[in-house]
Order: sequence, then structure tokens, then C-alpha cells
Amino acid sequence: MDSVGQADQAARDDQALTADFAELDTNQVRQDLRAIARRQVPGPAGPKAGGGSRGASGALAPGQSRYNANNVSHPPLSSTQSPSSEADSAVRQGRRERRFAQRAVLWTITTLPRVRKCGRTTNGGVGDGLAAIVVNGSVAHWSGFCTCGSIWACPVCSAKIRANRADEIARAAAKHLADGGTAWMVTLTARHKKHHELEPLFDAVANGWRKLLSGRAWAGDPKRGVLGERDRLGVRGNIRSLEVTYGTRNGWHPHLHVLLLLNEETTEELAYAMHRWDKTWRAWLKKAGFEPSKEHGITWSKVTTPEEAGEYIAKAQEGKVGNEIARGDMKAGRLGTLAPFEMLEYFRQTGDMAVVPIWQEYEKGTFRRRAITWSRGLRAELLGDEEELTDEELAAEEIGGETWALLPAESLRAIRRVPGLQSRILDTAENGGFVELVNLLTAYHLLYEIGPDAPASEKTTEGVGEVFTER
Ligand SMILES: [Zn+2]
Repeated sequence: MDSVGQADQAARDDQALTADFAELDTNQVRQDLRAIARRQVPGPAGPKAGGGSRGASGALAPGQSRYNANNVSHPPLSSTQSPSSEADSAVRQGRRERRFAQRAVLWTITTLPRVRKCGRTTNGGVGDGLAAIVVNGSVAHWSGFCTCGSIWACPVCSAKIRANRADEIARAAAKHLADGGTAWMVTLTARHKKHHELEPLFDAVANGWRKLLSGRAWAGDPKRGVLGERDRLGVRGNIRSLEVTYGTRNGWHPHLHVLLLLNEETTEELAYAMHRWDKTWRAWLKKAGFEPSKEHGITWSKVTTPEEAGEYIAKAQEGKVGNEIARGDMKAGRLGTLAPFEMLEYFRQTGDMAVVPIWQEYEKGTFRRRAITWSRGLRAELLGDEEELTDEELAAEEIGGETWALLPAESLRAIRRVPGLQSRILDTAENGGFVELVNLLTAYHLLYEIGPDAPASEKTTEGVGEVFTER
């Protein structure tokens, strides 16, 4: 571009920048301000909502923050914690049973070789062709199996990865809030039609996000001393999660969950940002061939606890499972909007093959796509030099413990043939101890070798099933 062209471009950018503010609809801003006032009420003890005459930054001064440094050092929320009661333990076992069962049906329909091996093929870790039952306190687990590390496709690995990510993000958010910053949960969605394929929708959402965080309205013009939104809000960074649900009426529904961390939030600047984001997002999606609906588009909600921030980014995609579902409900559009693992659960319960092509498109559309992303430098700034594990590393991580039993390939194959047995073996070890575990293995005629750490007094128990000794 020649210098005249550059000048023209600069003039157009200037116009566009001015236009962003000139076009600001005062009614819209008033609405936004009211909405902000409503959202920032943290509870009975928090600052009062509304108060039209407050200064722009009045309600949001760091001094009024409810957060304190105590939040920074809360214990990890890891799913591998010992359950505190029998009820907790039953809930945890129920979740594990469902995830194992979902993974078992996934083996039959997945297009991903690693997923097909997850929890099924041994990795040699405890001996060639062997898997072990390892007990750590009140929690038992399998050792020696391959893990796929897929946050998108695998219900077992995903739960483990997401629990860890939620904990990381909660600790990062706690640090930011303790530093006096504020945080917002911003959801960006696109309208979708049944015929839209997943990949272009994902691309439109990802590119739209880049669009929001670029250009002069965002970055300003340092040469001319113009501050952008980034500086005026004191944006520290963001953590975002790409998500997708499937509507049985409307098809794929991708969205972004963004945790936006601010250091110099004022009500007025926020209102400007909300307005500009909304306008830019809509314009971009329209250009890309998708449109946000009035009620979808962008929503903002203020973070009140660090845990909430962690859940919002890392756990929202997990979905809830519970309702009774009947075969055919999916095609008939009666299932509403499903998180991917809810779709898998429907498949598990009904065997409805209508799920298969949709699930496979989901695997293809999410393959190698980053689910959770931190803006550059933010992780180190908030979590220091804490080591960052990959999804694969998190999924493969084992808590260790006492090896109670080792099972050869022949037994593992037999276990796979009995629905639910892979998780029931762990439940039995947890609830009934070594003796019950041995009874169960014996009842199913499973060969096993007593592990080196099996409870000593019980190693000598008479008639403990069919012990195999060949390694
Ligand atoms: Zn897996």
C-alpha cells in the first residue's frame, strides 16, 4: 500500500473508531448500565445496586472487593480427593460408572484410534499385557491402561482434565481478584441452522473473537496517543473456552466462554465495550454467513467467586445427565439442546444409531482444536512458574497407591464383555476391601495375581480364586 493509500486507510480507521462512539445509542448505554448495576450485586453484604448518580467507577473500586488473599490458597478442587463421606463416595462412584459405560459404547463408534484404546489397551506400565487394581486410601483405580487425553471426545479423560483446569483457573482468578482486579464471564454465541456444519461454525466463532480483540478500537493508536479499550479497561488478559452443544432442532451451537480479567474497570468503559463487542460480533457473524440472534449474541456476567470462574470455563461443557430418554427422541427433536456427552449418554441408553453420524462429525470438527486458551503471558503472571501439564499428561497422571491385584489380558477381555464390570471392580475394592474384591474376581472366574501391596493379613486367605502366577 502506498503512502496515500495508507493515509486513506488511517482516515477510514479513524472514522470507524469515531463512529463506534458517535453511534453509541444513549438508551442502549443506559440499559447496559442498569444491567451492569444488577449484575455486580454480589449478595446482601455487597455494594448496593443501581444508584444512578454513582461515579463511573464508584461501585467497582478495588477497596470494595469481597475477595481477599484467603482465596488464593484454597486447597485444590481435584476430583481425586478422598471423599469425605459415604454419600460423596456413592456420588463419585455413580459418575465413574456412567463415564466408564459411556466410554465403553464410544469404543464401538469412535473414529479416533486413541479413544478406542483408552481404558482398553494396556500400556505396559505394570507389566506386559497386564493392568492393575491400585488403591489409594478410599479411592481405587485401574493402572496400566492407555489413556487418550481427549478433552473433547472422551468422557473419562475429559472429566479428569476439566477438573484440573477448573482448579487452575479458579486459583488464577483468585489471584487476580486478590490483586484488586475484577473479572467477567462473557458468553459469545452464533445463531445456527440445522444444515450448518460444525467446522465452519467453529472457524467463524474463533475468527470473530480475533476480530473483537484487534483493530484500533481495541488497541488504540499509541502514535497519536489514543488509548484503546484494552488500556481504558486495564485488560490483564483472558481465558477462554470453545464449546459446542447440539440442538436436536437447530443443529450445532458453538459458543465461547471468556473470562475477561480487568484492572481498571469503570461502569462507563464497560458499557462502551459491551456495546462495541455486540456490534462488532454481530457484524462479523453476518459477514461470515451466520447471525447472532437478539437473545443470543453476547452476554456478560460478573464473577463473584473464583470457583465460579473455573467452572464457567472448564466445566460448562460437561452437561448434566439425568432425564429419562426414549429411543427416537433425538430425531423427533424432543431432546432439546445436548452437551456432547449427553448425546453419548442418549446413545448408551437407547442405542439410537441416529447419534453416530452426528457424534462422528463432532469428533472431526473438534479434533486437534484447542478447547481452553489463556491469553499470552497470563498463566505465568497469575500462577507463577507452576508447571503446565498437557491434556495428555493430566489424563495419564495416576495418584498411585497400593497394588492389590494384577490382571492378565485374558481377564481384561472378559471384563470388557460384562457391561459395568470395569467400574464395579473399583467400587467393590473401595466399598468392601480386598476380600470383597477377591470374591468378585472369583465369582467371574477371572485370573489374577495378588499384588505386592495387597493387605497382608488377607494374602493368606484360603481359596482366593484362580491365582495366576505366570508373568
Ligand atoms: Zn480417554
